[in-house]
Amino acid sequence: MTSRIQQALAYLAADQAAITAVTRPDPPATEATEPAALPPFSGDETTCPKCSNLGAFTRHRAADEHGSDEHATFGPSPRGERLERTCTRCDYIWDEALNPPSDGPTTP
Ligand SMILES: [Zn+2]
Repeated sequence: MTSRIQQALAYLAADQAAITAVTRPDPPATEATEPAALPPFSGDETTCPKCSNLGAFTRHRAADEHGSDEHATFGPSPRGERLERTCTRCDYIWDEALNPPSDGPTTP
């Protein structure tokens, strides 16, 4: 009789150890991630990364503005201000960084 109780207690202890072993650890703390840096503007004669065509259209997209390759939603786009490039051959779309003029206005 005592041995059956001891067996049951041993079984329960082993079961508890197994449950503790599979308990998932706390998930890692999520850190706010900065949006990935965009590649620099590659010029009008850029090479499409999908079809190697030389040439792409350029369209300015404001911060929060949805791109042509995003589904329209009622909320803002997570993307920042950027230049949206569209391949003139295959319509592949990718984003590049802004390309503001580096020189200020010149006085004659
Ligand atoms: Zn292309």
